[in-house]
Amino acid sequence: MVKNKIVVVGAGIGGLASTLELAHQGHEIEVFETHGMPGGKMRTIDSPSGMIDAGPTVLTLKHIFEKLFADVGEDINKHLQLSKDPVLARHFWPDGTKLDLSSDAEENYKTIKAFGGQRSLNEFKKFNKLTRCLYESFDFPILQNPKPSITNTILQTSHQSLNFLPALLPGRTLANLVNSHFTDIRLRQLFSRYATYVGGSPFNSPAILSLIWQAESRGVWRIIGGMHKLARKIHDLAKSRGAKFNFNTSVSEILITKQKVEGVRLSNGKEILCNSLIFNGDPNAIFRGFLGQDIRKVVAHKNVKNRSLSAYVWTFSAKPSRSDLVHHNVFFNKKYKSEFTDISSGTIPKDPALYVCAQNLDDPNKSNSTIKFEIIMNASPVTSKNFNEEEEFKICQEITFGNLNKMGLTFNPIPSTEALTTPQKFNKLFPASNGSLYGLSPQNFMTTFKRPQARTKVRGLYLAGGGVHPGPGIPMALLSGRHAAAAIMKDQTLT
Ligand SMILES: Cc1cc2nc3c(=O)[nH]c(=O)nc-3n(C[C@H](O)[C@H](O)[C@H](O)COP(=O)(O)OP(=O)(O)OC[C@H]3O[C@@H](n4cnc5c(N)ncnc54)[C@H](O)[C@@H]3O)c2cc1C
Repeated sequence: MVKNKIVVVGAGIGGLASTLELAHQGHEIEVFETHGMPGGKMRTIDSPSGMIDAGPTVLTLKHIFEKLFADVGEDINKHLQLSKDPVLARHFWPDGTKLDLSSDAEENYKTIKAFGGQRSLNEFKKFNKLTRCLYESFDFPILQNPKPSITNTILQTSHQSLNFLPALLPGRTLANLVNSHFTDIRLRQLFSRYATYVGGSPFNSPAILSLIWQAESRGVWRIIGGMHKLARKIHDLAKSRGAKFNFNTSVSEILITKQKVEGVRLSNGKEILCNSLIFNGDPNAIFRGFLGQDIRKVVAHKNVKNRSLSAYVWTFSAKPSRSDLVHHNVFFNKKYKSEFTDISSGTIPKDPALYVCAQNLDDPNKSNSTIKFEIIMNASPVTSKNFNEEEEFKICQEITFGNLNKMGLTFNPIPSTEALTTPQKFNKLFPASNGSLYGLSPQNFMTTFKRPQARTKVRGLYLAGGGVHPGPGIPMALLSGRHAAAAIMKDQTLT
């Protein structure tokens, strides 16, 4: 039974999740996506070795994905081969030391003791206890809640407040909290780095982001064959339930009359009418008038003002010189703070920490020793500074591969220009994003309450995606899509 015509603008993970859920409920639903494939930032790049993931590589909070599938009557394990990584990440330092972290607490106690001695172990146990308390306290009132408010959050977490108070002191940054817990500079670097998972600098992000370590410590999964398979599978399931997808099709305007959604105008001028619409692009595109002047006010300046980090992302296949890589590797720098000082001044960091994902390292079907790599270097979002493209590539190549070379990691062949996605390219791929990959910068605790929520003040217009509550990362963006679908279903029963 057709209940309502719904249009979804964007087939990122948020748009896909809402499409699947609404199609499953029998709604007539049509998706318009600028790019030629589903997934948005969860995209791939073709190479002689096959498709390489060029977006997310770390899948955490698996239960959120399992639940979406289960709620539409599907078992995720029948559609995707998910494999839990035995090592969350291998961390390398310039002095030659290494540390593996695992989702097994006892294993972490052993490795951290061997790495930094009894003092580091005691410090880690204290940090782990605090972050577990934060994660458990804020999961329900904030992450799972479509409309979090400060008052409700305080009420729901007050019984634990004495335990997590050290992390919520006003003005306390993540770096500050981590430094007060760990004496070993290497562990300070490691646990501060979690701010970058949501596009923040540890030196100005709130200490509550330490709970991201808890999300990761619950396990990291990989999807055999590549992360993009998740987006394709959700697309396939939605399609099999009647959702119609239009790829290579951009929406140029959201049409409204008297504060109610009427439809969309495509870039070819065609108009599509609908009763409800989910916008899965960056909310900054609405604020900047990219979707028409009439709806600009749906997103306030405070919802999009401070942009999160961007990145230089290398995607290529090559033979590595080191034989001790695992799936997720982090190569730390000497002076951790200098990376973020450079980024905040809009320059390419001279000595960055580098994330190296060796995507098919353990794939038994891989035909030779060539590995698919994604290397990520944090960067500032696009500023007014304009780089000469050739010069930018050269600087970035020297920094990335020069620094890795110093730590014994070289690649054969060295990737060429087309392997690099710059902040400028991200800005073109995701309009009005400023190349910022995680929406609003998590600059302070109040960011949580500043992100736009699913329901907007225009009747029938909903938002979903990493720029919307509960925020960036694929589990969160997926939840935002579910919040939008739930809001549509609730509003329809009321009308
Ligand atoms: C390099 C990189 C690494 C990352 N690593 C991780 C990780 O390891 N783990 C993790 O959890 N997260 C990671 N993230 C973040 C994660 O990928 C994002 O938070 C998430 O995928 C965002 O999903 P979304 O729903 O916001 O949609 P997006 O991915 O932003 O997609 C939005 C879609 O909307 C389309 N669109 C926008 N406007 C229009 C229009 N007018 N007309 C038609 N279509 C339009 C766009 O083309 C796009 O496809 C990473 C991101 C990047 C870029």
